[in-house]
Amino acid sequence: MKRLIEGGWIWTGGDHDRDRLIEDGAVLITGERVEAVLTREERSSYPISPEVERIDGSGKLIMPGLINAHTHLYSSLARGMALPGFAPTSFTQILEQLWWRLDKALDPESVKMSARVGAMEAARCGVTTLIDHHASPHAVRGSLRAVQQAVNDDLGLRGAFCYELSDRDGTVIRDEGIEENLEFLSSDDPKETMSGALFGLHASFTLSDDSLATVAERIPDGIGVHIHVAEGSEDEEQCQAEHGMRIIERLRKFNLLRERSILAHCLHINEKEKDLVAESGAIVVHNPRSNMNNAVGVFDMDGFLHRGITVGLGTDGLGANMLAELFTVGILQKVSTGNSLAAGFGDLQQILFANNPRIAGRLLGAKVGRIAPGYQADIALFDYNPPTPIDAGNVLGHLLFGIAVHDLHVSGLIVAGRSVIDGGHFTNIDEDKTYSEARKVAAKLWARIS
Ligand SMILES: [Zn+2]
Repeated sequence: MKRLIEGGWIWTGGDHDRDRLIEDGAVLITGERVEAVLTREERSSYPISPEVERIDGSGKLIMPGLINAHTHLYSSLARGMALPGFAPTSFTQILEQLWWRLDKALDPESVKMSARVGAMEAARCGVTTLIDHHASPHAVRGSLRAVQQAVNDDLGLRGAFCYELSDRDGTVIRDEGIEENLEFLSSDDPKETMSGALFGLHASFTLSDDSLATVAERIPDGIGVHIHVAEGSEDEEQCQAEHGMRIIERLRKFNLLRERSILAHCLHINEKEKDLVAESGAIVVHNPRSNMNNAVGVFDMDGFLHRGITVGLGTDGLGANMLAELFTVGILQKVSTGNSLAAGFGDLQQILFANNPRIAGRLLGAKVGRIAPGYQADIALFDYNPPTPIDAGNVLGHLLFGIAVHDLHVSGLIVAGRSVIDGGHFTNIDEDKTYSEARKVAAKLWARIS
């Protein structure tokens, strides 16, 4: 099937050395890939068959679909939830009083509904790939398949999935977590670019040496882990007190620092640990709004980027608005350094538009993140009529101070050449019906929280 997006402003994405902005051009999609990106002049001479399906791009900014490199779809039904006695004074208490109460109450129905709602809202924000970190300790087995079905089948988005293994709920649930990860990994087809798999780990402070040794022994070669690292300072303190080493050294000891490993947060690791991360080629994912909301610290962005570490961007389950998250990366660095020039557009573009696609490529084997021949046709169409001149040199200004600040949503979203949102409506799922059902499932979920 061939489709042609015509008109509007096409931003090809990627890093700032290679991107182009084409006004009133066209994107020709053949099957799941981009066949050609055409300027206005090239449109008239390129052979386009009359059967091609035409998509009106006028009045739209057409750009690569966004990627969320660390999220928790299971948090989607927590919005507005009352929590009697909630008064945390540390990050560990936030986990104990909120997230570990919620995840224990999840059942198969709420796992599926959380994923469906989270994926739906991500799609509205232009997200085409979600890298999820799932937990449901009383509904472990089959949970990854349920999340995958919601993302891949119900919505039509790409995703990489894992179950966050932990010792916090005892050995029976821990063992279920190991089996759930392994079974999902073994069923994952490496040639299928809609879905990928990692081995999920909660965090160093909730994992015994016995558990890490088991993971080290059973994780397949070439597969990475997805783990929270030093999100709260307690994680590092516990590691040194209990294990006599720092977290990154502990992960290295178990051979879990890998090129496909995602280390989320890394707020409290020291300079030596950053060197070890750089040496290993592992991925670090920054989640500024979550970090600010949990009051856990500020990410040393320059320290990671200067070492050549692949720094990606995630939301940590706090929504999926990647452009708003990117805006926050900038303002957090500015306020924390007292330097209004901190986190320039080049670094911001690198993180979301070059590194996140690189991460998705590593985990899913998908060539994504640019609108260019041969790339997957993962494309977001934002209704955006620029009130000022726009070109490849200032497009970040439009994305951050236009789309992000004004919270604009997509009216079109294409994944692997197929429309997920068309003319402002979901093609695969009834949005109003899903929200209505979700409210019922959420009410039951909240009633189970103790
Ligand atoms: Zn997280």
